[in-house]
Amino acid sequence: VSSFSHRIQTRYYAPPSAVHGDRLVLPPEEAHHALRVLRAAAGQEIEVVDGEGGWYRVRLDEADRRTAAGTILERRREVGEPDYSLTVGLAMLKNPSRYETFLEKATELGVTAVLPLQTARTQKARLKTARAQNILVSAMKQCGRSRQVHLSDVVDFTDVIAANTAGLKVICHEAGPLEDNLSALLAREPSLPRHILLLVGPEGGFSDDEVAAAQRAGFQVASLGPRRLRAETAALTAVAAIMLSAATT
Ligand code: SAM
Repeated sequence: VSSFSHRIQTRYYAPPSAVHGDRLVLPPEEAHHALRVLRAAAGQEIEVVDGEGGWYRVRLDEADRRTAAGTILERRREVGEPDYSLTVGLAMLKNPSRYETFLEKATELGVTAVLPLQTARTQKARLKTARAQNILVSAMKQCGRSRQVHLSDVVDFTDVIAANTAGLKVICHEAGPLEDNLSALLAREPSLPRHILLLVGPEGGFSDDEVAAAQRAGFQVASLGPRRLRAETAALTAVAAIMLSAATT
């Protein structure tokens, strides 16, 4: 049985601050969408997620002009969420729209957090935060999650490999031995650790020094096969392999 009711198709986002006891008030832009675009009416039931694992079934009892508010009929936690936490350190890419596509797909595949990495070979590109946040909220609603992917600011590769508490640390590298592919590596894990950290390099790849430093910091080098994948393809392939290796995906 799926983890959320198919009865209610329209999903909305409201931050935890929108909940007051048994009342939930949709933020203005969501209210606008509900009232103007979807013609939501009082008495209708909607599904709302708060981006921090909260899920609410709400009966609208105020749906006029600019206000859409209702009574919470049911609450659930972690709807649509995996039971592990996967952080992906994907190097900042020259083309921000490729990174934005990754953010949307990473949401669908259950990623917890994305760290845009500054590495020896990354260019000076930057993501537009507002655009990225919109993509993350829309993807969360579309795929039926209740947590929004946490997107950090650009962080330095050396800081990420030094400071983390991940139980499984993987750096994807095309020069890694083919037999050390990610599937073989995951099959060796008796059970998927709670926290996983996955690193994928930029168009120019990780430097040998970066791979060596990651290995010294406890990272395992994983091959994703014999072909050279684009960074965003490599990241999604690795995320999907981890998702499908977990008991509940
Ligand atoms: N500079 C590399 C080269 O010329 O082969 C290409 C880097 S690739 C475009 C970007 C990133 O995707 C790499 O740093 C690595 O993390 C990952 N990647 C791509 N293909 C891979 C493969 N076959 N196995 C493991 N990782 C791969």
